[in-house]
Amino acid sequence: MSEEIYDTIIIGGGVSGFAAAMYAGRFEMKTLLLGDIMGGVIITTNEVANYPGFKMVSGMELADKLREHALEYNVEMKEEKADGVEKTSDGFAVTAKSGTYKTKTIIFATGTEWRKLGVSGEKEYANKGVHYCALCDGAFYKDKTVAIVGGSDSAAKDALVLTEYAKKVYMIYRGEQIRPEPINLRRVEQNEKIEVINKTNVKEIKGEQFVTSVVLDKEYNGSSELALDAAFIAIGHIPLSSLAKDLGVALNEKNEIIIDRHGMTNLEGVYAAGDVVDTDFKQAITGVGEGVTAAYNAYNHISK
Ligand SMILES: Cc1cc2nc3c(=O)[nH]c(=O)nc-3n(C[C@H](O)[C@H](O)[C@H](O)COP(=O)(O)OP(=O)(O)OC[C@H]3O[C@@H](n4cnc5c(N)ncnc54)[C@H](O)[C@@H]3O)c2cc1C
Repeated sequence: MSEEIYDTIIIGGGVSGFAAAMYAGRFEMKTLLLGDIMGGVIITTNEVANYPGFKMVSGMELADKLREHALEYNVEMKEEKADGVEKTSDGFAVTAKSGTYKTKTIIFATGTEWRKLGVSGEKEYANKGVHYCALCDGAFYKDKTVAIVGGSDSAAKDALVLTEYAKKVYMIYRGEQIRPEPINLRRVEQNEKIEVINKTNVKEIKGEQFVTSVVLDKEYNGSSELALDAAFIAIGHIPLSSLAKDLGVALNEKNEIIIDRHGMTNLEGVYAAGDVVDTDFKQAITGVGEGVTAAYNAYNHISK
């Protein structure tokens, strides 16, 4: 175990973690950020049109800017996963592949992972026609027929991305009507390549070497099997809160980390921010704000 003691260790290299790191650096805290996929989920979208100060920016560019800004200060970043967190007599110990690091405070900014559909064929055809990131994998489907499973704003944006490549994009949604932001709903409605199938579930994904169709729980155009080349699953995210839970951090029924208005958890010295916390509205700007709040209060904690 390294003998140096960090003032804070931020776990998570998405926008919330970068913002926390930037402020911690400004407060001259000895800061380490551990992030296994630098940039986080925002890098899977090419259009961020609601981050104040940027009329339009790609997710990758926004994440890069936040990261660069944090690195202007004395912040260490390691591109690796935190595997364990323990309470010690004088703070916490965070274990990663490269070693175990001591710290006075922790900020969890671990975000979420894609929720799986949980149907037969999903695992079998992963990356062979089953995908979770339209921006990353959409280009493989030039002039093909694909589907987005989901009806959220992110799902609608994914459908729009896919129309840049595919000849036909179905949106299959279990609810009454897809529910993107009004501006994206209009764009979906006006796009001739997109066909929305509401009130329908995908029961199975079928294929040979690659995906060939999905089975629906009700008939559409006279058949319950829809021929397609790829299914992009966009049905939400699951919080990555197991490390926090192992430490004794309180979670809500959705497994999100419960924080107060200071970004603090039920454990002294432990803070959290971003998509992993129990807030209703999960956006880049809200995660950034929460990261900043967490860093400020971690600073106040160690200054006492
Ligand atoms: C397709 C899509 C489009 C979106 N569009 C917009 C938009 O236009 N505008 C907007 O404001 N928001 C948008 N969002 C939401 C926004 O991207 C998120 O709210 C925000 O990026 C969350 O950031 P985060 O840092 O909290 O979490 P994440 O981005 O999930 O980052 C968490 C990071 O922590 C890492 N991590 C997890 N566990 C560990 C561990 N044990 N050790 C080390 N690292 C770990 C993960 O690898 C990840 O890199 C969109 C989201 C999606 C999916």
